[in-house]
Amino acid sequence: MQEIIKYQEIDIKIKKLNAELKANANGQKALEMQQFLKDVQTKLVSLDENAKALSQQYDKSVAVYNEFIKKLDNLVKEVDTAGGEKAASMVPIIEKFSSDAEKLDNHISSLQGRMNAVSRDVKNLVDNAVKARHNRDIYKAEFDKEREKIEPQINALKSELAKQRAKVSPELLAKYDAKADGKMSEVFVPEINGKCKGCRMEISAGKMSLLNSNGIIECENCGRYIYK
Ligand SMILES: [Zn+2]
Repeated sequence: MQEIIKYQEIDIKIKKLNAELKANANGQKALEMQQFLKDVQTKLVSLDENAKALSQQYDKSVAVYNEFIKKLDNLVKEVDTAGGEKAASMVPIIEKFSSDAEKLDNHISSLQGRMNAVSRDVKNLVDNAVKARHNRDIYKAEFDKEREKIEPQINALKSELAKQRAKVSPELLAKYDAKADGKMSEVFVPEINGKCKGCRMEISAGKMSLLNSNGIIECENCGRYIYK
């Protein structure tokens, strides 16, 4: 029994150190920054697609606009040479062309505005990413200092644990392994004044006599193993 208790103590120490590392504020900050950088990457990809689509629309619109202006120029020349009634009849056509050209021009301006907005978004994201990367490196360096202190302790405990494991009966190890991976930190707890030390529940008279004869029982309340 003593050997499994010792094994449990070492195992709990390792778990505590691992939890300490996981909860380390610098480590968590570094992870946050890392996640932020990942999100930025995704956003940049979608902005890039946006920019490409806008640029294609822009090129197309400009080509249509230039074609329009050419036609308008020709019409104006025709009016100049035609004169009289024919010229007068062409005026509404030219007006329609002019107003369509103006609409296209507005469309091109709005496309330009949207392209500028995308460029601004990209620039902001990249600026923020540069800051985040800088901060991540600082947090990570701080975390690494902590890790370099704790990891050797964990490794030493792990080799101690492996040695101790050889001393424990397979039966008790199986009991321990089955429950130690869950939320339970202590799987084996002593009986103290007729109570389970894990959950403070009173042990029934029947269970108590079983404990006295077997030396070990399973707590009916918390599932831990209670030993004498
Ligand atoms: Zn209990």
